[in-house]
Amino acid sequence: MVDKEKCIGCGTCVQLCPVEAISFDENGKAQIDPEKCIHCGTCEASCPVEAIKL
Ligand code: SF4
Ligand code: SF4
Repeated sequence: MVDKEKCIGCGTCVQLCPVEAISFDENGKAQIDPEKCIHCGTCEASCPVEAIKL
């Protein structure tokens, strides 16, 4: 899940997710589609502000 308080909307996770499970919400924060996520860990490892916790 994404900590919306921490997310700075950089887009790194959106670009790196291999299954395109991450998009931006109406506030420009990342949101993960749990139906698509395969729990690879890429987003969690790449977020510069550690806003993602699987
Ligand atoms: S854990 Fe992997 S598949 Fe799931 S949202 Fe993050 S990058 Fe995408
Ligand atoms: S990588 Fe982190 S800060 Fe950047 S959009 Fe994703 S959750 Fe937000």
